[in-house]
Formats: sequence, structure tokens, C-alpha cells
Amino acid sequence: MTEEWKNTYDVVVVGGGAAGLSGALMLARARRSVLVLDAGAPRNAPADGVHGLLGLDGIPPAELLERGRSEVRRYGGSVAAGDTVPATGEVVSAAPAKDGFVVGTRDGRSVGARRLLVTTGLVDELPEVDGLRARWGRDVVHCPYCHGWEVRDRAIGVLASGPLSLHQAFLFRQWSADVVFFTHTGPQPSAEEAEQLAARGVAVVPGEVTAVETAEDRLAGVRLADGGFVAREALAVAPRMVARAGFLDGLGLRPAEHPGGAGEYVPSDAAGRSAVPGVWVAGNVTDLAAQVGASAAAAATAAASLNADLVEEDTRRAVEASRDAASDDR
Ligand SMILES: Cc1cc2nc3c(=O)[nH]c(=O)nc-3n(C[C@H](O)[C@H](O)[C@H](O)COP(=O)(O)OP(=O)(O)OC[C@H]3O[C@@H](n4cnc5c(N)ncnc54)[C@H](O)[C@@H]3O)c2cc1C
Repeated sequence: MTEEWKNTYDVVVVGGGAAGLSGALMLARARRSVLVLDAGAPRNAPADGVHGLLGLDGIPPAELLERGRSEVRRYGGSVAAGDTVPATGEVVSAAPAKDGFVVGTRDGRSVGARRLLVTTGLVDELPEVDGLRARWGRDVVHCPYCHGWEVRDRAIGVLASGPLSLHQAFLFRQWSADVVFFTHTGPQPSAEEAEQLAARGVAVVPGEVTAVETAEDRLAGVRLADGGFVAREALAVAPRMVARAGFLDGLGLRPAEHPGGAGEYVPSDAAGRSAVPGVWVAGNVTDLAAQVGASAAAAATAAASLNADLVEEDTRRAVEASRDAASDDR
């Protein structure tokens, strides 16, 4: 549903996933004018359920967001979200303006905001292996807390492709005794790590994986460069995670390399304040490891911090206005 936009809002929330809608809900309930602009591609869209979310465990991702949008609208917030075709809310630019910011959308509109809450999430850069992308979020997975229970006791493979891969192998071993570590493009386990893997019963298969193969719409296993085939029911990968933040260039706000080598994120303090005054960030755009609950909670914290900042500004302006009125009377 497309709604009429005002020229300026107290807050424009860029990104209407779990984080953005949670922040918008807090702000709308704080009687702030709020517009959520959303491009309609939440990170967990391929998954059939949101797991580990207290009270809503297993809810389909689209249903959670639909509930969130209607809660925001209930308090007068506006949402230009991915439920329109084509999506109306993709922000492509942000720039400083008098009293705040102006953001521009892909379809050529612009809107003002006193403050920005950026909750655009991240892009999972998947390893380039034939057939892998098509299984992403189904039986090619990354997060044991999201999918571990669903693949418990199954034949699991872990595809080494980044610095988190080894850690992932040890983690998935918690959910299944049948874990195979494919060294693929590395990093290769050290002697000490190889001993640890062996002690935990994790088999190590050397060589590059060239394809993920399926049968009857299920993962069947992986094909190796030497032609070998290893049957697996699930494959864990560690994508490089890159904050969606290109549109913040005009504000001089750029993602930084994550210290753990997991990808790129927009740094912030504990309340979600970014390096640019007036811009808050929450969810996966700043915390690459946050799940849905943590993303929503962080955005609620950021929204309260942002509202407090607006209250201070409102008070400062009221004092200025009252002093001006007093000096006019003299
Ligand atoms: C396959 C998979 C399964 C998962 N399963 C679970 C699970 O079971 N439980 C769990 O807790 N977590 C799960 N997660 C993690 C979960 O997806 C994230 O924690 C969550 O999506 C983070 O919320 P977010 O609001 O920060 O980002 P997102 O949900 O990605 O939302 C960001 C929104 O911003 C929009 N956006 C991006 N750029 C722009 C722009 N320029 N202008 C406007 N809008 C923009 C996007 O289109 C998107 O709608 C899973 C992740 C994946 C990849």
C-alpha cells in the first residue's frame, strides 16, 4: 500500500525489516511523525520461518513483517514498503539539509527528515559454487541458531570459504554427529585444528567443491573438483556479510571492515549512534551477527535514544522561541 508522504518527518527509517519496523513502532508510539522506506528484500526472505524468536518461534518472515507494518500504521506511522509492486521505498541517496536530511528514492521522489534511522541490513555474499544459491536458506544455511534444530542429526557439510568456517564446523557438531568439513577454498585447518576436528569426529575432505547437487528438490550432496561426490543433507556456508550502506555516501558515512573478518558494517555506539550526528543505525547494518530478536531490540534502543535527542532539540528551540518572544515584548 502506498501512502501520501509529507514533505518532512521527524524520522525517516530507511529499511523496513525487523529492525526498521521495531524502531518505527517505538517512534510512532512516541508521537513522532515517522516514514519507513523499504526496498522489500529482507535478508531472511528465502527461509520458511523465523526461529528462536520468543513468542513467535517459526513465524513466516513475511507474516512477521506484515504484522510489524500494521502495528506501525496503527499508531499513525507511514510505511512505503515492499508490499507494493514495484517496491516504492528504495532509498538511493541521503544528503544533509537545513534542520536535518533529505533522502531520495529510486523512483525520483525526495523527503526530508530531522533524523535518520538506518536499518537496511546486509547482503550475504555467497561462495560461487554451482547450484548453491538456489538452495540458500533452505538446505544451504549459515546460522546454527536459525537452522540447527531443523537439520539436527542430519548429514551436514561445512564449506570452508572464510575465517568463520572452522568455528562453524565446531558449532554445527553440536547439532549433529555427522559433520564433514570441506576445505574448498580454505582457510585450511592448522595441525592443532585438525586434531580438534578429529577429536570431535568431524571428517575433513580436501579439494575444491564445484557443485551442490539436488534430487527431488532436496540437497543430495556436493561434487568435488576431482569428480568425487559426498552425500550431504545440509551444507553450512559462511557468506561474507556486507552492510547495505551505499546510499549513505552523501553523508560521508561509509562501512568499515569488520575486525573479525566477517565483512563490512557501519560502526555505532551502544545506542546505535553512527559517526554522523543525527543518523542512527540498528540491526544487521551495524551488527552483522544480530538475529531478528536482537535486531528489533537494538532498533528499539536506538529509537529511544533518537527520540531523546529530538526532545532535547525541541526544548532548545522552545527556549529560543520563548526568549525571542520575551525580547519582542520589551
Ligand atoms: C537464510 C536466513 C535465515 C535466517 N533465519 C533466521 C531465523 O530463523 N531466526 C532469526 O532470528 N534470524 C534469522 N536470520 C537472520 C535475520 O535475517 C536477520 O537477523 C534480520 O533480517 C535482520 O533484520 P534487519 O532489519 O537488520 O535487516 P533485514 O531484515 O534484511 O531488513 C532490511 C530491509 O531494508 C531494506 N533495504 C535495504 N536497502 C535499502 C534502501 N537503500 N532503501 C530502502 N530499504 C532498503 C531491505 O530491502 C530490507 O527489507 C536468517 C538469515 C538468513 C540469511
